[in-house]
Amino acid sequence: MSILVIMEQQDGKWHRMSWEALSAGQQFGAALGLPVEAAIVGQGVGELAAELATKKLAKVHAVEHDLLKDYTADGYTAAAEALIKKVNPKLVVFPHTYQVRDFAPKLATRFSQVLVSDVIGARMDSGSPVFVRLLFQGKLNGDVRVSGNGPGFVSVQAGAWRADMVEAGSAPVETLTPALDASAIRQKPEAPFRESARAVDLTAADIIVSVGRGIKEQSNLHLVEELANAMGGELAASRPICDSGWLAMERQVGSSGQTVSPKVYIAIGISGAIQHLVGMKGSKAIVAINKDANAPIFEIADYGIVGDLFEIVPALTEAVKVARG
Ligand SMILES: Cc1cc2nc3c(=O)[nH]c(=O)nc-3n(C[C@H](O)[C@H](O)[C@H](O)COP(=O)(O)OP(=O)(O)OC[C@H]3O[C@@H](n4cnc5c(N)ncnc54)[C@H](O)[C@@H]3O)c2cc1C
Repeated sequence: MSILVIMEQQDGKWHRMSWEALSAGQQFGAALGLPVEAAIVGQGVGELAAELATKKLAKVHAVEHDLLKDYTADGYTAAAEALIKKVNPKLVVFPHTYQVRDFAPKLATRFSQVLVSDVIGARMDSGSPVFVRLLFQGKLNGDVRVSGNGPGFVSVQAGAWRADMVEAGSAPVETLTPALDASAIRQKPEAPFRESARAVDLTAADIIVSVGRGIKEQSNLHLVEELANAMGGELAASRPICDSGWLAMERQVGSSGQTVSPKVYIAIGISGAIQHLVGMKGSKAIVAINKDANAPIFEIADYGIVGDLFEIVPALTEAVKVARG
């Protein structure tokens, strides 16, 4: 029995969430005392498999077939089904991508299971995993256990596990060529969905200064902007700020915005709702400024300042300017 992580690639390039799924898989493996294997599905995936083989894994599976060149739900389901029958894992872990949402539920039913999707956390209870997922658009958290005889199927939400926590090692690569039948693939692949180009790439920023409803009015935003400029960072925001049109949508961090993991994330007047946290909790250092000492943001902050942002932010900006000369 093992944990099997099915990674995702497009045109020979990793989907960045794959590494978060691998990180989750390694953590589940350590908690359950099970070896971890990983797979990559496609055509000509040898190089990606070799890269995967530099991670702490018991085995890497390169699932190769000409009919897997482009993603189709039928092709990927059949290929993953063959792989799972060969590996017989206890748990199959995916990144919660658009592609996984498309084919993994169908794959799970082939093993009389359901996909436990959008998982944000996990804990062990009497030796078996309990997964935490959001319910009712994030208003509640639900605990889910996998039951039945088949393997469990889990997809992990963006930002819930950290890609940079993937452990390095060395693993053998095995190639599997599944028996696929072109006539059984009903979909015709088209150019994959691409998000529109963004003027701001928050995912590449080392420092992010993020502002929430505590700023009260659009005319106060300059205070936070000045701090971002002084620090050489990007300006970001919680959803209400972008919904109000005070900042562009592309600056929104969270479950319906961008997922970021900068070196420093400064949350100013942000309460720390789960939908915001999932987008930034992978940041290396989190600084929170909030007048409410009980705000949930302080639970994940490395440094917290309890106080009025209108006093603290201008003073911080001055101090940064002095320190940077
Ligand atoms: C399906 C769905 C998707 C969502 N997606 C996202 C998303 O992607 N990103 C996101 O951010 N949210 C998202 N949300 C919204 C989320 O639930 C919260 O409503 C939102 O994050 C709250 O934003 P906020 O922290 O700025 O505001 P609030 O929760 O109102 O918090 C404001 C904070 O400012 C503090 N404050 C007030 N005045 C001061 C002051 N003078 N000095 C210091 N602190 C002060 C308060 O103590 C408070 O903690 C989503 C919600 C749903 C249902």
